[in-house]
Amino acid sequence: MDLTLLETSLRERGEPAYRSGQVWEWTARGAESYEAMTNLPRALREELTAAVPFSTLEVEVERESKDGTVKTLFRTADGHPVEAVLMRYRDGRRSLCLSSQSGCPLTCTFCATGAMAFGRNLTASEILDQALHFRRRTEVDVTSGSRGDAAGAGAEGTVLDARARKRTGRQRRQASAEPGSARREPSPAGGPTHAVFMGMGEPMLNLDEVLAAARRLPEIGITHRRTTISTVGWIPGLKRFVREVDEPIRLALSLHAADGALRSQLMPVNDRYPLTEVLALCHEHAERTNRRVFVEYVMLAGVNDAPEQARALAHLLGRDHFKVNLIPYNPIAGSAGGEAAGARQEDRPPKAAGGGHFDGSSRDRIGAFKAVLDRAHVPATVRLTRGRDIEAACGQLAAAPKSRKRAAVPTP
Ligand code: SAH
Repeated sequence: MDLTLLETSLRERGEPAYRSGQVWEWTARGAESYEAMTNLPRALREELTAAVPFSTLEVEVERESKDGTVKTLFRTADGHPVEAVLMRYRDGRRSLCLSSQSGCPLTCTFCATGAMAFGRNLTASEILDQALHFRRRTEVDVTSGSRGDAAGAGAEGTVLDARARKRTGRQRRQASAEPGSARREPSPAGGPTHAVFMGMGEPMLNLDEVLAAARRLPEIGITHRRTTISTVGWIPGLKRFVREVDEPIRLALSLHAADGALRSQLMPVNDRYPLTEVLALCHEHAERTNRRVFVEYVMLAGVNDAPEQARALAHLLGRDHFKVNLIPYNPIAGSAGGEAAGARQEDRPPKAAGGGHFDGSSRDRIGAFKAVLDRAHVPATVRLTRGRDIEAACGQLAAAPKSRKRAAVPTP
């Protein structure tokens, strides 16, 4: 819902100031339409239905993975594709992966979004509407899930979620109709519990809208501590985030290589903003917030997955301020790499990075990499891949089918 348009429309109608709050509260609690907002005059509900579209996004396609992951392709009112993912875990966590832009202007060589055309920044309302879409979808899949740590977050919410699961449909509806229930329960009636800005786009290029959206997520049931903003290390935005944001929102840095030359090949943005400066800001954030910065490290066979590269990473990061998430590479459409293959990859000579064709590291290779970090006392986890069968996994968000064709264009 375009909250600015909502405000203007209510003001023009001479409605009292509290109206927009009422509408938002219903929406945040998962109402399906204005019609459900029973404390609004009926005529106003009808007027709003006509004047302010209930969502700024239209669902174009939705796919559900066999592991319970749901990927939704939306369109903005002006036709830009936006993708978001809901991951559901057996421990009750439901983690949203949100997009901050349609497409991405950065060109990380292993990322599907980087290969598609950049559209534009999303507004705060368009970001929130991704979350609200999943907030309205309250059922919990209790048969799938895992011990995974896709959002890098803990298992908070288990008790509440178990309680929510036990409720009958009627109780659920009653609970979500209780005024203020969104505030009392962190994950009311099975809504999302965590959010990561790890979908399409670079959040630090659109920081104001991302923050405006993130600041409202608690009302949907996602606290700041369970919200993570991920960046390539775009310094202007990162600096503001570190120095100006007081909310305890988690920071994640997509690093992928400790070595500057290799990082530049994988992520051209590295030439623009020196890693030392980026890491200095991350240290500052960890010290200010007393929370570790997550480091995203996509495991690419023969490129960045050697034990000596793990040692260099440990040396670069130190023990105190970071936690490393090792991400199995997810093959993207148009890339030559198949599923993470076996040991044979390790026998090959290191391939030139930057060509856009990668293989995922084998499990053993990832395990050995992690062991080096463990020995160096740098906290590290191997992230579970979810939703790969529906191309909903990390880095696979590129609206089909136009972008696929672009992604398949040979790189120089
Ligand atoms: N631009 C921000 C937000 C996008 S996050 C950032 O880069 O941090 C997307 C995360 O998924 C990043 O850590 C990115 O490196 C990772 N990723 C991209 N493509 C991937 C792929 N094919 N397999 C696994 N992870 C990928």
